[in-house]
Amino acid sequence: MTRYTGPCSRENPRCLEQSAGVSVSETNNETSTPTVTTTANDWIYETWDVDQLWRNPLIEPDAPAMFVSFPSLKDPRHDPGAHQRHTCEIVTFVNPDAFTPWEHEGMKRGDARDPAYLELKETIEQNLLAQFGRHFPLLTPMVRYVTSSTPISVATYTGAEHGAMYGLATTPARFLSDALRPRTPIGGLFIAGQDACCPGVTGALMGGLMAAVSVEPRLLALLR
Ligand SMILES: Cc1cc2nc3c(=O)[nH]c(=O)nc-3n(C[C@H](O)[C@H](O)[C@H](O)COP(=O)(O)OP(=O)(O)OC[C@H]3O[C@@H](n4cnc5c(N)ncnc54)[C@H](O)[C@@H]3O)c2cc1C
Repeated sequence: MTRYTGPCSRENPRCLEQSAGVSVSETNNETSTPTVTTTANDWIYETWDVDQLWRNPLIEPDAPAMFVSFPSLKDPRHDPGAHQRHTCEIVTFVNPDAFTPWEHEGMKRGDARDPAYLELKETIEQNLLAQFGRHFPLLTPMVRYVTSSTPISVATYTGAEHGAMYGLATTPARFLSDALRPRTPIGGLFIAGQDACCPGVTGALMGGLMAAVSVEPRLLALLR
């Protein structure tokens, strides 16, 4: 996570237009879980406009897109026990403006959450579960526990601007910005992570590698 000044700062909003994520995690505990799903991730689009964000979860019940994954099914160390307990994660992309009222106030770790925020979270959980249920009808009755996180949670725990879990928007301005290179004008200060390269774990890994090579160019020879 990086905060910027210069060409990609708040003064250039195009580079900071972001989507943030909402995720819901569930625990299922029925013996049939492994037979009704697989270790594959499911990307579900309700529209052909694949860039569409969930603009306002309070008034739009359905998310335009959902990523559904079953982490425990992929974990060879996970012991599902006699009841075959497994976890499921649903992630969707939301307009961070829906969470602006809570972005800075009363959201430090340990602060009591505003009741309106808790209500919004509950609505999101119910709506996403209903949407999930239309695609995985056999799994819905097995859900025993649900918890959720919002862009506010991501901002609280990682410091990501507007809670954008995938960092800056992937616009031409971002990729052409001189401010987003591993080497900075400040001697000894290097930028790593997804915003120095591209979104996601792999992007963050490559951003780290680019920063390491900027510090020690001889590392490049080891990559052959
Ligand atoms: C629920 C969820 C699911 C995801 N699923 C996937 C997925 O399936 N695949 C995928 O590729 N990506 C996924 N991602 C995105 C992935 O986590 C990020 O792309 C990746 O972690 C970015 O790595 P990073 O090192 O750039 O930043 P981060 O992982 O955000 O690391 C930044 C670090 O800096 C610390 N920090 C922030 N501010 C300060 C400060 N002022 N001082 C000191 N430390 C500070 C933070 O605490 C954090 O530890 C997911 C993210 C979330 C939230």
